[in-house]
Amino acid sequence: MEKIDIKNLSEVELEDSLIKVGAQSYRTRQIFGWLYRVGAGSFDDMSDIPLGLRESLKAKFHISRLVLLDTKRSKIDGTEKYLFKLRDGNTVETVFLPEAKRRTACLSSQVGCKYACSFCASAPLGFIRNLSASEILDQVLFIKVRERASPLTNIVFMGIGEPLDNYDNVMKAVRILNDKDAFGIGARRITISTCGIIPGIERLKEEDLQIELSVSLHSALESIRSRLVPVNKIYPLKDLINACKDYIKKTNRIITFEYVLIKDVNSSIEDAVRLARLLKGIKCKVNTLIYNQITVKRYKSPSEQEARAFVKALKKEGYSATHRQSKGEDIDAGCGQLRISRL
Ligand code: SF4
Repeated sequence: MEKIDIKNLSEVELEDSLIKVGAQSYRTRQIFGWLYRVGAGSFDDMSDIPLGLRESLKAKFHISRLVLLDTKRSKIDGTEKYLFKLRDGNTVETVFLPEAKRRTACLSSQVGCKYACSFCASAPLGFIRNLSASEILDQVLFIKVRERASPLTNIVFMGIGEPLDNYDNVMKAVRILNDKDAFGIGARRITISTCGIIPGIERLKEEDLQIELSVSLHSALESIRSRLVPVNKIYPLKDLINACKDYIKKTNRIITFEYVLIKDVNSSIEDAVRLARLLKGIKCKVNTLIYNQITVKRYKSPSEQEARAFVKALKKEGYSATHRQSKGEDIDAGCGQLRISRL
């Protein structure tokens, strides 16, 4: 019988398994601590777990581990990018962003992606499969063990894949990341970023978790957005905005709208005014980022000056808007690059 990857089990599922082998339920918290606080790679490391229970665990479960294939570190800002090999030979990327006040892990949620956004480095590789909860958590564990002295503060699902297209595994991982017996990362420090999968947003609003939602807009015009984010043909802007309004009403939380500025496509002052009109009455922030022409050559990047003018126009309309600097530009930290270079 094939052994089960123990990190694919939620706390409740692990507790059920332990009770079946006659263990007391408090052992679940101990084992969670070993797996996620310590990062134990073997059941033999779990010194306060009775030997008999350790043997039962070994017979039924295994503890997964990612294999590091490649790593790159930015000389500009210290951003690190890792390429991992999964058990089936597929590869996945993770980025670590150390900043003065935040230390963020940017996670992948799928091997490849089906949504084919025209500005994304991952898109040409297509979709292979969902990551398991364990494979998502192992990305965090790798950084946690490596950066023991300065713990991670934030998690963002902005790497390869669409997290709301792998809803169950992502949410299982999110609950373990948030669990005080495991990683203990505050829900408000965990961000799910979506290209606009409306059924996922509708499910997310029913969760009892105060996580952050970030929605990639990139244009206030249906035609331009369909070109940049083809899923707009399935979930058009007008329905997406309504879903966002419902989400805010139900959760009483704000949404961050992501907007990649592309020269001569979506970055004019008129585009900013149109965006302001689209978001009228919505409790939100807008994050802009200059398109990374070095990573994907299809479009052109606007200048810093044009980006600042766009943000200024949004602010003039009363919006909280920021211009985010690209991280790790010298190591192609835009998702998909390292993986492509190894294919
Ligand atoms: S931007 Fe995100 S959703 Fe779009 S293709 Fe890339 S990984 Fe997929």
